Amino acid sequence: MFKRILVANRGEIAVRIIRACKELGIESVAVYSTADRDSMHAKIADRSICIGPQQPAKSYLDAESIISAALITNCDCLHPGYGFLAENPVFERKCSENGIVFIGPPADVMELSGNKSMALEIMRKNGIPVIPGSNGNVENLADALRAGKRLGYPVIIKAAFGGGGKGMRICNSKRDMESFFPIAKSESLSSFGLGDVYIEKYVCKPRHIEFQIIADNYGNIVCAGERECSIQRRHQKLIEEAPAANLSEKTRKTIKGFAVKAARSINYKNLGTIEFLVDKDESFYFIEINSRIQVEHPVTEAVTGIDLIKEQIKIAAGEKNSYAGNEIFSSGNAIEFRINAEDSENNFAPSPGKITDYSLPGGPGIRIDTFIHSNYYVPPFYDSLIAKLIIWGNDRSESIARSERALDEFKVEGIKTTIPFHKKILANQNFREGKIHTHFIEEEFGV
Ligand code: ADP
Repeated sequence: MFKRILVANRGEIAVRIIRACKELGIESVAVYSTADRDSMHAKIADRSICIGPQQPAKSYLDAESIISAALITNCDCLHPGYGFLAENPVFERKCSENGIVFIGPPADVMELSGNKSMALEIMRKNGIPVIPGSNGNVENLADALRAGKRLGYPVIIKAAFGGGGKGMRICNSKRDMESFFPIAKSESLSSFGLGDVYIEKYVCKPRHIEFQIIADNYGNIVCAGERECSIQRRHQKLIEEAPAANLSEKTRKTIKGFAVKAARSINYKNLGTIEFLVDKDESFYFIEINSRIQVEHPVTEAVTGIDLIKEQIKIAAGEKNSYAGNEIFSSGNAIEFRINAEDSENNFAPSPGKITDYSLPGGPGIRIDTFIHSNYYVPPFYDSLIAKLIIWGNDRSESIARSERALDEFKVEGIKTTIPFHKKILANQNFREGKIHTHFIEEEFGV
């Protein structure tokens, strides 16, 4: 097992990783930017090091500073969390060149999963259902128009290296394609460093359901069930749950099998997530692989009892998959609410500032992953996620009742949060009945 870990992230996920390390007896080193001097992750780690100023490019995205921090503190491994450098194969290579084990898949696997159009091609060739599309990148407008005509509108243009719900454009007509294709290509170049884009048929009101993979270095790959992530605003997830409501046992089992096959087809190692879109008639299509721990991993932990972060660390240390050859059972229902520092009454505008007071919910079935404290100043430079509220119940209706109670107890003063919006979603009859899809928020709330 490792002796000392460098946690190359901030916020709730850094705290989550440090907690797992404490339980595993691994010393932790936190890195922080000057804006995060007072952040909880920098305080609870065994050691912490300032790696630069507030701008992410000069701190959490600065591979050289992070590797230097790991080397001077004699860390033998590094956990990247999610975002920042988590899915960057160049960074993984730099870690290994310096003798630091990167906790995640190897660079060549990350390269395949990070290139979405390439991953799609591999899946298609391996018999995994994919959405009809351009079968590779589209170089120019003439080819894009040909693909649009062949597939039939609406279609979606996606950045091959995109992520976080960004870099996508829906085209309802040839005219849309003519105006959006050049924009999509230049946005892809400016946001992701490469202008590669591909085109897919746009699926009408699908559900986004993803499957958790656990894979060790010896070919033992298991699936720890699914997460329903259809409650999204502008392609950004807001509420996730496990298991997916109203999904037939037959489809669940079938997709699980395909998820394991997808992971095997790229020789996947460590933890990963295989994302699918699921249609009204339960037709399903692979969309991408995320080669990192997901923000929403706690709902899987709540229903399976697995500590996914510890499992990531153990596998990276060369241990065998703890669940190899075993069926993973799921019990009850879990829902996660992303509490963001955003003003949901005002178009979800960022709401950084000082948290003057707060109180957290408690009682049965409640978990909170956060890094906030009284007088904490939410900086404007990073992701707006300040806490995750994770609820477990014996069934979905108990989870919903418990969620309502917990959100009533959850108070944050000084800044605006998404708590009031979550309460509205919970009160919605279609949500309560599990009648959800990726356009649910737009359709029900017009935002
Ligand atoms: P990212 O990596 O940026 O999160 P994804 O490929 O996972 O991108 O897609 C994010 C979301 O965009 C999906 O959850 C879904 O809501 C929507 N989406 C993506 N592809 C399609 C498609 N072909 N048809 C309909 N919606 C789509």
